[in-house]
Amino acid sequence: MRFLRHERAVLDELLPGLDDTLTDYPWEVLERPESPAFEAFRKVGGPALLVPSEHSGTGADAVQAVRVQRAVASRSPSLAVATTMHHFSVAGLVETHRATQGLEWMLLEGVARDGLLLASGFAEGQPGRHILSPTMRAEQAQDGQILISGSKRPCSLARSMDLLTASVTVPLPDGGGTQMAVALIPADSHGLRVEPFWRTPLLAGAESEAVVLDRVPVPEDLLVRIDPGAAGGLDSLQTAGFLWFELLMTATYLGVASALAERVLRADRVPVTEQAALVVELEAVMGSVEGIAHRLGAGFGGQEALAAALVCRYAAQDSIARAVQRCVESLGGMAFISDPQVAYLAGCTQALAFHPPSRSRMAGALRDYFAGAALTMA
Ligand SMILES: Cc1cc2nc3c(=O)[nH]c(=O)nc-3n(C[C@H](O)[C@H](O)[C@H](O)COP(=O)(O)OP(=O)(O)OC[C@H]3O[C@@H](n4cnc5c(N)ncnc54)[C@H](O)[C@@H]3O)c2cc1C
Repeated sequence: MRFLRHERAVLDELLPGLDDTLTDYPWEVLERPESPAFEAFRKVGGPALLVPSEHSGTGADAVQAVRVQRAVASRSPSLAVATTMHHFSVAGLVETHRATQGLEWMLLEGVARDGLLLASGFAEGQPGRHILSPTMRAEQAQDGQILISGSKRPCSLARSMDLLTASVTVPLPDGGGTQMAVALIPADSHGLRVEPFWRTPLLAGAESEAVVLDRVPVPEDLLVRIDPGAAGGLDSLQTAGFLWFELLMTATYLGVASALAERVLRADRVPVTEQAALVVELEAVMGSVEGIAHRLGAGFGGQEALAAALVCRYAAQDSIARAVQRCVESLGGMAFISDPQVAYLAGCTQALAFHPPSRSRMAGALRDYFAGAALTMA
């Protein structure tokens, strides 16, 4: 079948054997806690996907990355959601290194050589709380380190991560006020523990548990400080981070919907108009994701690119919802009753709406951006 063929070919080229390994496991084994998917991902060099080749990585570009995410998600939604957090953290390190020429390259080499997994903790489990206003506390220790306390939840990869990248509010270097920073924290740090948090069976294989920090020491050179003067709290690194996040997440949930669509395309009794409508709906989303990804390679970036990625993601939410509803209806009641994977995949696709920034939170900012203002995420 041609559907998903490109995506699976790229997956096979860059992470050889992963598709076969994932296909060999029963889907419910991949989708529950202690999934073997992370080990399989490490084994084929998955953590190195976005690490540039000059730092011993695979050096995938944005188009390849979104294809890989769609293909992985069509086999294991949990693995794709969790690894989106890893890839976007790596992309952030790459952007930081490009901007500062700092020591991030050492970490990138470690990710590639040792197959390290990076978790990303921004949310703190309080509805309505902005992910760009971290409440994690930071105290200055006498030895120059910063002691971080608080909790991040949900935090995907909580049990398999090697490093946590966490948003935190830190004192300004001159002591006058605070600013946001991203701290890099080894998972085995003294004072860091993981607690159960995720209670729904949907995406349970992503290990989105709570990571609790109790005065965890972080040296100053493992803090990436965000420009406090940036409009709406969005500096150039955050803009690039969100841009990658939206593209990878959209491709991921598109992949989950595609797994359902694949079944519909194989079901001969489904009317051809339904099958064609599904392909049109989902391939239009992929066209939009890939279009932005292609343009990134040609220098597209900044607020214009982030606005395009947000538009693509919110439009994808609606397309995916329509497509999934068609899939479930076309597959029919007996498939729904006898095969729990149908409801599972359909349920998972809902979670695209919960990733930041939510559509309602961004409504005013997007309208203002298209009216001529700068893009904010306040
Ligand atoms: C599968 C999955 C994995 C995740 N993994 C991670 C992870 O690894 N790391 C991480 O940091 N986070 C993770 N998250 C959490 C995610 O980042 C969100 O922070 C979290 O889901 C937000 O929860 P919420 O919808 O209750 O909160 P909110 O974003 O506060 O939204 C609650 C409701 O209020 C509305 N709302 C909020 N603010 C406004 C506003 N200003 N104007 C209008 N309406 C508004 C929203 O639209 C929504 O309807 C994950 C989430 C999921 C679903």
